Amino acid sequence: MPDTTPAMRAEGVHKSYGDLHVLRGVDMDVHAGQVVCLIGPSGSGKSTFLRCVNHLETVDAGRLLVFGEPVGYREERGVLRELPNREICRRRSEIGMVFQRFNLFSHMTAIENLVEAPIRVLKRDKEQAFEEARELLDRVGLSGKEHCYPSALSGGQQQRVAIARSLAMRPKLMLFDEPTSALDPELVGEVLAVMRDLAESGMTMIVVTHEIGFAREVADVVSFMDHGLIVESGPGEQVLGNPEHARTREFISKVLA
Ligand code: ADP
Ligand code: MG
Repeated sequence: MPDTTPAMRAEGVHKSYGDLHVLRGVDMDVHAGQVVCLIGPSGSGKSTFLRCVNHLETVDAGRLLVFGEPVGYREERGVLRELPNREICRRRSEIGMVFQRFNLFSHMTAIENLVEAPIRVLKRDKEQAFEEARELLDRVGLSGKEHCYPSALSGGQQQRVAIARSLAMRPKLMLFDEPTSALDPELVGEVLAVMRDLAESGMTMIVVTHEIGFAREVADVVSFMDHGLIVESGPGEQVLGNPEHARTREFISKVLA
């Protein structure tokens, strides 16, 4: 029988910051190989949701499973216990995350950025890590830039290094939080092209983005989030082309304006 465990499952996820109820019962399934684009207004909880998936935040209620396992916890006779840090790190290394700001190590060259965690955290063989890093930089169109420091690279190039750095951990799930929002418009395309390639290679991805064209073309599922809830979810042509809910329509018309 094929393995039907979702790569990521969110069931009724709630998260508050003090009195602010940010996630109000988020449900989402992402299957292996799927690309889900998460769209929605600023402040609706998209980043918070991704941070919960990655266990950078704990959830207040509901369940988050990544490859069938609770994120950051293990279940013991029906009781959830937070995992030791070491184990959280191991599981988190299976999830790559790319942020709006590239967050590269500024004192390291491109290739040093890529090999740092595989060698230090995953204890990979040094030579092999460098070899794989070169291949990854080539894959994101940056062969020849191995020894450049981030400050010598454009925003688009830095973001491609950041994507390659995530891939160097051999993640099974990639999370992107508005990866092109900080870029000059002429640099957006080169980053989206890398993400499109990655999607075509079969990577499972959750992408928070305002790039409606990308969502329409690449996403298997587009989900619209508003006020901490998934309001509407489905194929791009439906959610983007013929949305059911007034809030979705209003949002899309604003983004496309
Ligand atoms: P989005 O990514 O959709 O723009 P966020 O998830 O960043 O939304 O934020 C949702 C809401 O949660 C916002 O009102 C934001 O100010 C608030 N928020 C996010 N992170 C924190 C935090 N660490 N502490 C307090 N409030 C937060
Ligand atoms: Mg955000």
